[in-house]
Amino acid sequence: MYQIKIAVIGAGASGLAAAITAAERSGGKNVILLEKQAKIGRKLLATGNGRCNISNMNSDKSHYYGDKEIISSVLDDFGIKELKRFFSSLGLLLREDSEGRLYPYSNQASSVLDCMRNRLAQLEVNIRCGFLIKSIKRKNNSIIIDSDEEKIIAENIIFACGSKASPSLGSDSSGLELLKNAGIEPTPLFPSLSPVETKEKYKALKGVRAKGKISVICDGKKLREKQGEIQFSDKGISGICLFECSRLINEYLTFNTVFGKHRNKLCISADLMPEYNEKELIRYLRSCRKTFAEQNTSDILSGALNKNLSAVLVKNCRIEKRNCRDITDDDIYILAEKIKNFCFTPVKTDNFRSAQVCAGGIGSDEIYADSLMSRKIRNLYICGEMLNVDGDCGGYNLHFAFGSGIKAANNIK
Ligand SMILES: Cc1cc2nc3c(=O)[nH]c(=O)nc-3n(C[C@H](O)[C@H](O)[C@H](O)COP(=O)(O)OP(=O)(O)OC[C@H]3O[C@@H](n4cnc5c(N)ncnc54)[C@H](O)[C@@H]3O)c2cc1C
Repeated sequence: MYQIKIAVIGAGASGLAAAITAAERSGGKNVILLEKQAKIGRKLLATGNGRCNISNMNSDKSHYYGDKEIISSVLDDFGIKELKRFFSSLGLLLREDSEGRLYPYSNQASSVLDCMRNRLAQLEVNIRCGFLIKSIKRKNNSIIIDSDEEKIIAENIIFACGSKASPSLGSDSSGLELLKNAGIEPTPLFPSLSPVETKEKYKALKGVRAKGKISVICDGKKLREKQGEIQFSDKGISGICLFECSRLINEYLTFNTVFGKHRNKLCISADLMPEYNEKELIRYLRSCRKTFAEQNTSDILSGALNKNLSAVLVKNCRIEKRNCRDITDDDIYILAEKIKNFCFTPVKTDNFRSAQVCAGGIGSDEIYADSLMSRKIRNLYICGEMLNVDGDCGGYNLHFAFGSGIKAANNIK
């Protein structure tokens, strides 16, 4: 039996920030950090392709979805100034890219983890890795954490276990299960910031990258449009601009709604040459008909697009196996339309495995938004991705994880 003032469960972004703050306020000897994996901060190391996009200079509320009360409560306390102050106190230098994304100055996610780990060591916080919790129960004024190893009796407990996205990095929803067993229910979960599997599958497109524009069309209306790199796979589409549209695509696939409103049909349209309007494209294709007259039609786009992508587009328009000179004006119109509006139908899959973020979670019906404490179990706090808050791609999710961890710890009496 081990007694402690504050137990933080989960050593990811939010748990590390919570443990540091709790230890700075109450003394490190009063804090224990329990992590089920063999090492702390594994997901943090994988963020931003190993560079850790820690926040964004434009970190306002419009980049967040889910429980508005919780979003406001966390971001009102923790803006960009507070994030910079927190990391500066750990010795971490930051740098901003041209789009306002913040990274560690070293460009290495390991710097973020090293600085946080160093502060925990200075504060002498007890860190237990490989700690598997069986249950949590309220008893009198304490919470009992039961594991195979031992029982921990904590006066306060901060849940920071992440949710369901990328379970191979630790967030396998076991934390939410512990909460459910204690009577605290999340809203339904769905993946966000994920690749999307589509009905149309093109083996030849595996690994192809193109600069373009992705639009999400719902019941005939364009709901979102993003320009940037599109990555194709043999199963569907990925890449930053698709990621930025994936939340609403996944919401539709899970509930048949977008932003809570029922929708009948959703499709993804890729514009593969967004800098050219249809007229300019038709003019260009007509010139290519002459330039590549004796070549197979699969070469008609060889001066403009990736070879495999061109071949797939030409095949889709059923103009393959001909020479360029033989294609008609009508064929050219169809090809131009295909380049500007290459359509994909998303299909439902269990893509939490490849998602970076999980939408849904514990909301303000279960916790007090101003303290992040459970309404049912006193002195039990919840932070990070376990909460019903998710952000856009670009540093917003880590910003919220750090801010909510710090907020939970600051509210412990
Ligand atoms: C590949 C990838 C790249 C990303 N890149 C970025 C980025 O650049 N910028 C950005 O803003 N966001 C990024 N994200 C999202 C961001 O990493 C998460 O939103 C953030 O890490 C959530 O923090 P968290 O502390 O809530 O959960 P996590 O970071 O998931 O940490 C939860 C921790 O709790 C532990 N745990 C789970 N269950 C238990 C249990 N039962 N008992 C004990 N411990 C438990 C886990 O092992 C884990 O260490 C990325 C995500 C992924 C997967």
